[in-house]
Parts: sequence; structure tokens; C-alpha cells
Amino acid sequence: MEPREPKYYSSAPVESSTLVDGHGRRVRDLRISITDRCNLRCTYCMPAEGLPWLPRADVLTYEEIARIAKVCVDRWAFDAIRITGGEPTLRADVVSLFELLAPLGVDLAMTTNAIRLVDLAVPLRNAGLKRVNISLDTLDAATFERITRRDDLGRTIAGIDAAIAAGLAPVKINTVVMRGVNDHEILDLVEFARDRGVGLRFIEFMPLDAGQGWTLDQVVPAREILETIDAAFPLSGDAIPTSGHVEPAERFAFADGRGDVGVIASVTEPFCGDCDRVRITADGRLRTCLFALDESDLREVVRSGGSDDDLAAVIARAVAGKWAGHRIGNVDFIRPDRSMSQIGG
Ligand code: SAM
Ligand code: SF4
Repeated sequence: MEPREPKYYSSAPVESSTLVDGHGRRVRDLRISITDRCNLRCTYCMPAEGLPWLPRADVLTYEEIARIAKVCVDRWAFDAIRITGGEPTLRADVVSLFELLAPLGVDLAMTTNAIRLVDLAVPLRNAGLKRVNISLDTLDAATFERITRRDDLGRTIAGIDAAIAAGLAPVKINTVVMRGVNDHEILDLVEFARDRGVGLRFIEFMPLDAGQGWTLDQVVPAREILETIDAAFPLSGDAIPTSGHVEPAERFAFADGRGDVGVIASVTEPFCGDCDRVRITADGRLRTCLFALDESDLREVVRSGGSDDDLAAVIARAVAGKWAGHRIGNVDFIRPDRSMSQIGG
């Protein structure tokens, strides 16, 4: 098919070597969703029946993804790329995507529910994946089924162990804490992570649950989570200073020297002031915030024959308009139409 003429973007070359938004924040972390499909149905992310999946033709190909990523790395020295979804390991031949991205030489990570890692951890590491964040909200099989609507706790834990054995490092566990659902398991999860020597970060429940009934009173504030942990596993003083990349998690070391724990207070203490990331959805929309209400269509640029300069111009314009921060809980807060699985968490 002949490429169509580029339509609505300028082809002015973008020359600066770093990408800075309108609030002076340097943007250098790219989160790429490669599918909106999933093998779980977490209540905080999707309805039981799933969501209307994107038609395959609408989803960026691996070559399109690699091209956009290369523009960001070559022009603005982006140094971190995280592959996510939906569940990224469901995408056919996902290993080959990492082979395409590895030559970019960035910190290449993936967020996954781990169910397929028993088979994929070693091939993914060999292809260039460096580290994984794995979602695990409970160690109890019945609670796992209540949250994810699937009976897969065993495979998830096997996947975590496969990631550790494959040398993907660091392995970090992400736990979304919901009042009355899994908040009684905070200490069990801390013990689990410390026993395995993996990282652990507790995430506040955000209103990106496909309209399934998020309310503020279901959110367990990060401060409360830290107090619960500190009472049983004393934490040593101040948060660990971040080195290099902006970390949404505030991390604290255990006083006994056995690891650390983080909290991501996206609702009660948003870290927007330091945010250095942008996201691309599986259908190629650039989003400059999880809660953004507008998107820029990178797929259209790529598929209509736009040049790398065109792509860079659209990305730079979107980043210039990156807003200062979201306002969850305020009366003027508007939820985005997309759920977490459709954005790429
Ligand atoms: N399927 C993969 C997984 O679960 O790790 C990757 C995609 S998932 C959308 C990415 C992250 O978003 C997971 O850590 C998940 O727990 C988190 N997440 C999803 N919905 C959320 C919500 N409403 N609030 C907070 N975190 C959420
Ligand atoms: Fe799937 Fe991840 Fe959403 Fe759970 S959080 S439904 S594993 S995309």
C-alpha cells in the first residue's frame, strides 16, 4: 500500500537533545503498551467480561513500536523503556520485540502478571529484557480468585520464581492495596518479598478501573501502609534518595538491613512534580499522563508515511502540553475513558 500524505503535523525538525515539558520536567521514560488483552480480569482494572478488544490491525506492529522508541532514544536520550499492557506476554512472539529494542541500549523492563514467565523468562532475558515488575496482590488462593477472577495464584508465584532464576534483576512485586480486600495481607507480602530477596511496592488503588466502582474509601493511603509495615518490620528513618531516574515509589529500607519496601501514593500524594514519563497505548496513542484526557495519534503519523521528524514534532508538541499534575479526589477531576489495561500501567 502506498503511504498516504502526512496530514496534520508539521515536519519541522526537532533539534534539542533533551525533551522538556512546559513545566521544566525532563521526559525520558517511555511506557509502551503492546496489547489491551489479558488473561486475568483484575477487579481494579477490568470488568469480568473483559473490554472490547482492539482489532489486531489497529495495534502497532513491533516494527512500528521500535521505530517510535528509536526516535525517542536517538533524539532525546530516553534511557528507560517499559513494555506493558494488558498482559504483554500474551502478544505473539513477544521475544522478538525485545530483540528489536535491545540494540537501543536502554533500561529495558516489563510489567507483567507473571503467569507466562515459567516459559518466557529465559527467552526474554536472552533477548534483552533486563528486569520485571510483577503484579501480586495476595498470597491467598481464594483472594487471588476474588481479585483476578482466575485461579492462577500457583502459576503467578511460579512465574516470580522463574524470573528470579532467569536472572531478571531486580524483580519487583507490585501490590494494589484495596480496603477490605487485601489490606490484611500487607505483612504477609512483606515477608514473602524479603524471603525471596525481591523488591515490593504497594500501590494506591486508582480510579482507572473501567468504571467498576472505585471510591476514595477503598484506597488505603500509603502512610497507613507504611505505619502497618513499620510496626512489624521497623523501617529505618527517611526515604531512600532516588538515584538517576524518577521513582514513583517512595522507598524505605528495613532497619535490619534485609531489603526495602516502597509505596506509590498516586492518589493521596501524587508524584506529578517529578514525572519523567510518557505512555503509548497499544493502538499508538501518545499519552503524557495516566489521567490525560487527550492523546496524540502516533500511529497515524507512522502509517501515513510521516518521517521521523514528523513523529518527533508530534511527540514534542504533546510533551510541551503535559499537564502539571492530576487532581484525583478534587471536584474537577475527570476520569479518563480508558481503563488501566487500555492505557498501559
Ligand atoms: N498485566 C500486567 C500486570 O498486571 O502487571 C501489566 C499491565 S497492568 C495494567 C500494570 C499495573 O497496573 C499493574 O501493576 C496493576 O496492578 C496496576 N493497576 C491496574 N489497575 C490499577 C488501578 N485501578 N489502580 C492502581 N494500579 C492499577
Ligand atoms: Fe490484566 Fe494487569 Fe489489568 Fe490485571 S492489572 S486485568 S493482569 S492488565
